Amino acid sequence: MTDPQNAATDPDTYDVIVLGGGAVGEVAAQFAVANSDRTAAIVENQLLGGECSYWACMPSKALLRPLEVANTARHLDGITVAGGVDATALMNRRDTWVSHYSDSSQRKWASDTGIDVVTGTGRLAGERTVTVETGDGPRTLHARHAVVVATGSTASIPDMFADVAPWTSRDATGVREVPESLIVVGGGVVACEAATWMSALGSTVTMLVRSTLLGSLDDFAGEAVAEALRDAGVEIRLGVDITEARRESVDDAGGATGVPHGGPVTVTVDGQEITAAEILVAAGRHRTVDDIGLDTVGVTDPSQVSAPEGYDGVDWLYSVGDASFGPMLTHWGKYQSRIVGQRIAAIAEGRTPPTVPADPPVPQVVFTDPEVASSGLSEKEARATYDSVTVITKPITAAAGVGLLRDDASGTAQIVVDDATRTLVGATFVGPEAGELIHAATVAIVGKVTVDDLWHAVPSYPTPAEIYLRLLEGYFGY
Ligand SMILES: Cc1cc2nc3c(=O)[nH]c(=O)nc-3n(C[C@H](O)[C@H](O)[C@H](O)COP(=O)(O)OP(=O)(O)OC[C@H]3O[C@@H](n4cnc5c(N)ncnc54)[C@H](O)[C@@H]3O)c2cc1C
Repeated sequence: MTDPQNAATDPDTYDVIVLGGGAVGEVAAQFAVANSDRTAAIVENQLLGGECSYWACMPSKALLRPLEVANTARHLDGITVAGGVDATALMNRRDTWVSHYSDSSQRKWASDTGIDVVTGTGRLAGERTVTVETGDGPRTLHARHAVVVATGSTASIPDMFADVAPWTSRDATGVREVPESLIVVGGGVVACEAATWMSALGSTVTMLVRSTLLGSLDDFAGEAVAEALRDAGVEIRLGVDITEARRESVDDAGGATGVPHGGPVTVTVDGQEITAAEILVAAGRHRTVDDIGLDTVGVTDPSQVSAPEGYDGVDWLYSVGDASFGPMLTHWGKYQSRIVGQRIAAIAEGRTPPTVPADPPVPQVVFTDPEVASSGLSEKEARATYDSVTVITKPITAAAGVGLLRDDASGTAQIVVDDATRTLVGATFVGPEAGELIHAATVAIVGKVTVDDLWHAVPSYPTPAEIYLRLLEGYFGY
């Protein structure tokens, strides 16, 4: 076996090996080698760029944005919007944003950045070692400094649906043939966003939800999205129990995505049967960490391999992104990757790694219409965490700048303040441009800015950001 410490010229030895080339793994490699002559290899067995680029964030937002803009325009006096959704054009837009499922531009980026891409399925095989099954046979790679696990996640399909070959988020984001009717199982972000675009594309959508929509957020968010989806014609059944699913004929269409997977599907819900042309199971995701050789380096519990510290004090093994047991969000995974990449670089250069705040807030945007955005803690979480909090809630249209965005604007803005420190610990917005508004809250939470200081951060009139002024007025009793 090659000695990793003495293999500077060995083509199979790199400073850093990243296992999994999704958007998150790419950033880890990039930051680990930035401004240095260090080398990195990314091991990827599908498309470089991963879920986000081809089957998740990019296609979903490419489908949703025109719908939101059209809906806004329809609700602005003075504008006439002719026609409805052009499904073919919308799907073409999606295809452009996913580069027609080609990763050539991402491979060019890697090559331009000096990062090797090893195509094949990789596994850890002992300390700082990764074996890869490539099309040309097995390769054994060695890392001088670090291995980063960035193997992502895949859609979970509960056993009950295994035999009906349901659509997953890959089919929904990659839709080619719009089913006449669609059952959506789940009430999380993917389910709500997919119900939005599938309904707009012409499918009759029924959502079957075990509890409530967007259950991890404050209740008003899910309630607003439910109301809007119902207004758009989506049937939503909350608190239901699915006991059976069956499909007479299953056809995997040669593995093609976004096309029917067979004949109609029937599910039994609270004793009643519902049939639809297709079924989308959006019931969460599981992390791809089971068969990647973590046991060969003594890891029995994959959740212990975390960013940014690495595994159990070991400075060569990290995990980032969906594989890391953190929030499953691209921007969060990329943040972890920047931290891990900087840490690897610092250790390689004999510097002290940058310090990282203990619990930075996790922002999240749900691109439904109305948009939902949150950062930090929900009211429920904050009450469970702090002795005393003050919650201020305002209609989002209390800011003229929001009202001006569309004539039917509605929604809610909420901040949660820890009474002991008088700092923001959470914010949730529902309404137009909520995703843009939330970043100011993230900055305030990270910076531990007190409400007394925020009072002097003056938003321009009449911009949506004035909602912060309304919320602070509420806090100070005006
Ligand atoms: C429909 C949908 C919409 C979403 N929208 C958003 C959004 O708007 N914003 C947001 O922040 N997040 C969104 N997400 C979440 C986001 O997609 C994920 O958090 C993100 O893609 C995770 O990136 P990753 O690089 O960790 O994993 P992945 O993108 O899953 O990449 C992992 C890569 O590793 C490869 N791999 C796995 N095992 C091996 C192996 N053994 N050998 C070689 N290669 C391997 C895989 O092929 C894959 O390319 C969405 C998710 C879904 C499903």
